[in-house]
Amino acid sequence: MLQMLSQGAEIAREMIKIQRQIDALQLELSKLAAEFAQTDHWSDEGSNTPIDWIRFNCNLTEKVAGDRIAVGQRHAEMAASVRAMEAGEIGFSHLAVMARTAIATGSRFDEARLLKVARKASPGKFYYESLHYRHSVDAKSYAAEQVDLVENRRLWLSKGEDGGLLISGALDPIGGAAVRTVLEPLARRTSWEDRRNLEKRYADALVELATNGGGLKVQMQVTSSIDTLLGVIGAPGAENEFSLPISSKTVERWACDCGLTRVLMQDSVVIDVGRSERTIKGPRRRALIARDQHCQWGGCERPASWCDGHHLVHWLHGGGGEIENQVLLCHRHHWLVHEGGWQIVKTDDGRLMTIAPTVVFGRGPD
Ligand SMILES: [Zn+2]
Ligand SMILES: [Zn+2]
Repeated sequence: MLQMLSQGAEIAREMIKIQRQIDALQLELSKLAAEFAQTDHWSDEGSNTPIDWIRFNCNLTEKVAGDRIAVGQRHAEMAASVRAMEAGEIGFSHLAVMARTAIATGSRFDEARLLKVARKASPGKFYYESLHYRHSVDAKSYAAEQVDLVENRRLWLSKGEDGGLLISGALDPIGGAAVRTVLEPLARRTSWEDRRNLEKRYADALVELATNGGGLKVQMQVTSSIDTLLGVIGAPGAENEFSLPISSKTVERWACDCGLTRVLMQDSVVIDVGRSERTIKGPRRRALIARDQHCQWGGCERPASWCDGHHLVHWLHGGGGEIENQVLLCHRHHWLVHEGGWQIVKTDDGRLMTIAPTVVFGRGPD
């Protein structure tokens, strides 16, 4: 054990030594980067900015390339910080935050005050503190910057070849935090058996948010034939403005407990237009929530406000609206029952049992 500890301590010393050498090299590179930015070489080579040239040729991200130039431009104004880095009291990452702050605050830059904070904080925390500092010395331009970030937030939605939705974009920090605040709780694992990776859970959370957000049931308008609703073999898919034809299984789930505006067709004639009356509302919903409290799938505790009232026997197949025929299921588990091929049944003694699909085509429900 003693042997191992001393070996660990030796590695730790070595790591800190190498990191300090790297920090020193980064400072050297930064000085060169700032000088390089003054030349025309990057432009002669067809780059739009010196950052672009460095990013591409030095294999760095845009932020890191920008940090290098910033430090190179400002190192003379923060000599005490450079000395602190050389002494190993702060790292190059602190220096980068310091340089960015110097640029943002101009003549109000107070190195001594910031260095005191940097010595005590990790680079991440120091960045956070530097924003407070910027706000304290110049609230107006800090606010203007925030406004700028909001003005520049963008979201791109485009259609993939398979009809799916491709999403990309960037949000300002505050807007981004708001989105994460809503998505993160929904993206948590539903139980220890939940094997979805984070990306899948985020995607599921976004869809859940859109279809069930805070109890606000969306109105999906679906044009469907009765055959489709009944899942008759050979029936066409249902239609919705923004989607490819929708499978009867999905329409069945929506019709189970969702604000569904349906347009039912038979032989190309509209035979029924209207809101689905099957949404579980009022006292019946309250009774269901009081009884179940959360998703009733084994091990899942997603709260009632995020659940649908699933009909054990669907109304299309003669099931009634009584509470005995209903059970709370979260978005994912409701999906598993309708589209995913799982079954949820009540045993004779009133317990709920989930049965995995016996035949799985392609990918399983996970
Ligand atoms: Zn259902
Ligand atoms: Zn669930």
